[in-house]
Parts: sequence; C-alpha cells; structure tokens
Amino acid sequence: MDLIQFQKLFKKEPGYRLGQAKKALFQDLIQNWQTAKALPLILKEELNKKCPIEVSAKTFVSKDRNTIKALMTLKDGLKIETVLMRHKNKRNTICVSSQVGCSLNCSFCATGKMGFKRNLEAWEIVEQVLFFARYLKKIKERVTNIVFMGMGEPFLNYQNVIGAIKILNDKEGFNLGARHFSVSTVGIVEGIEKLAREELQINLAISLHAPDDKLRSKLMPINKKYPIRKILNAVDDYIAKTRRRVMFEYIMIRNLNDSEENAKTLARLMKKPCTRASTVQGRPLYFVNLISYNPTGIFKPSLSLRIKKFKEILEKEGVTVTQRYRFGQDVEGACGQLAAKDGRK
Ligand code: SAH
Repeated sequence: MDLIQFQKLFKKEPGYRLGQAKKALFQDLIQNWQTAKALPLILKEELNKKCPIEVSAKTFVSKDRNTIKALMTLKDGLKIETVLMRHKNKRNTICVSSQVGCSLNCSFCATGKMGFKRNLEAWEIVEQVLFFARYLKKIKERVTNIVFMGMGEPFLNYQNVIGAIKILNDKEGFNLGARHFSVSTVGIVEGIEKLAREELQINLAISLHAPDDKLRSKLMPINKKYPIRKILNAVDDYIAKTRRRVMFEYIMIRNLNDSEENAKTLARLMKKPCTRASTVQGRPLYFVNLISYNPTGIFKPSLSLRIKKFKEILEKEGVTVTQRYRFGQDVEGACGQLAAKDGRK
C-alpha cells in the first residue's frame, strides 16, 4: 500500500474516518477494503483502487506445523520470505525481512548469496505481519512478537524499519507493545546510536558469531568496517541510555568458532561491561544466545556436546546464556535459510 496516498485520501475525510480505517485494517484484519463495515462505499472503492491491501503469498508448512513460511511477491515482482513460529502458550513470533536480499555476504548465510536487490518500504514490512495476523485470526490467535531476523540488514534500511515498528506499535492500530519487537543487526554502529535516541523500548540483538576480529572478519566481511570493539562501545552507550538488555547472537559452527578457547575469549568480551555502567542491580545487561547453525553451504553445525561445553564455560564465567530452538528447517524457514528461491518446491 502507498502510505502517502493513504494519508492523502484521509486528509479530505472527517477526522474519525482514519481511526475507523485503522481499526478495520489492524484490528478486524480485513483482507479487502470492501469488508470495512464502518466506511462509506465510495471511500472503500477509492481505497481499493489506490491503496489495495491484498498480499500475494504462497505458504509452506513444516511437518510439525509449528513453522509456516510465506513466500510473498511484491508489486514489482520481487520475492521475500517471512516466517511464523508458533511457540507454546499461544506465543506467535513473526520473523520479518527488511530488505530484498542482503549486501553483507556473511559466509554462513543463504540470503547473502542472492545479493542485494532493494530496501523494503515500511508498508512492505507491515504487510508481512498483517499477512500472518490474518492467518492467525482464523484460528483465534494473535501475533505476539516480531523479530527483524529475516532477509536483509535492518539498520541499512533504518528509516523504513523504524517506520514499520511505529505503525505496528500505534495504539489506534495494531497496538503491539514495543517490548515485543526485536531488531537484529550485524552491528551497524550508526544504527545502534540512532536507536538509542529513539526512546522506543524495543529489543536489540547483535549478530556476533565470533569472539575476535580475525575470525569475525572471515565470517562477516562487514567486521572490517565495524570491528568488535566499535560495536561494543556503541552497545555500551546504548545500554547506558536505555537500560535495556542486549542479546549477542552466536551461531555454533563445527570446528570454526566452537572451541573452548573461543568460549573463554567470548566470556571475557561479555563480562567487560560489568565494570562499566551496563548493569542494573548487579545483573549484566549482555547475554549470549547460542544458535544451532543451519547448514546452507560449506559449514557444518557444531556437535551438541560441543555446544553444551561452550555453554558451560560461559556460564561458569558468569555470562547469561540462552539457546535458540530450531524452527522450520524442513521448510527452509530457519535462520539464515531465507533466500526466496521460488519454484523449488
Ligand atoms: N542482518 C541481520 C538480521 C538477519 S539474520 C543480522 O545479521 O543480524 C538473523 C540471524 O540469523 C543473524 O544472527 C544471522 O547471523 C543468523 N544466521 C544467518 N545464517 C544462519 C544460519 N545458516 N544458521 C543459523 N543462523 C544464521
């Protein structure tokens, strides 16, 4: 949908109409303006013509039915992927894409292989969420969390990502609380700095994946521009301003970044902020999320015994560690597997 057109249309309407439209779109989750009961017929027709809200997508459901991947076709024919992960207790997380493809070419990630096509508009991000919100409504469930961990680097499309979050956070609209959003970045320092100034209570995650610059630069070429020290300094400033915890993502790749030595170096890195302002009531605000590597190319995932040992070392050193559950490998909807290869299935 063209947001500028949308706003223009409502400028000439009485004030309450916009509220009615937002309710229809974000709460009733209509699929077509025709079904927006409160709006007059002429306006509905105009909206359908100038601001259509249908989403064109194919879905793939995993065997355990807990992961649903949507391959969406955008208005220019390009394709993106979005994933719904259904957790226990009716927790439903949507993993959204922020760009078509990605320019960063991390060696372990499938999206990087397809190169960068373009940034997504704020509405194209919102649409991904609406698609699954409509899907969930049919089974009387709701979207409870949104993570920017799909295709692309959110902080290289900063304005549209924050724009989409603000639309989805709007009390009159979708009304999802800021704390239910997470943005994951390779560590674009300017983005971290900007986010610190937003006064938005969203969660920040950093894709670290290696405890030293030599190894990190091998895995993630962007590390040459934003080395670990620079990122951690920006994160410390972010924490000092926001008092929010920051997650460090670490994918476990066999015999590459999963040694005991790697764990010890990582622990030293993670403990550093305890000596600075970055603790609340003595609790370190850094925590590590260990992620099983989803094979998409040359590497293999770490053996579970290695992961266990790695986790133990971190914990012994006082680092808080969580582990990410694998979702949707069989629909190629797991982390790093999103590459919008149409026609494979
Ligand atoms: N560009 C952002 C967000 C997209 S990726 C970022 O890098 O943070 C979301 C997460 O999935 C990142 O932590 C990314 O490093 C991780 N990831 C990429 N490829 C993966 C793979 N093959 N297996 C597991 N995680 C992967």
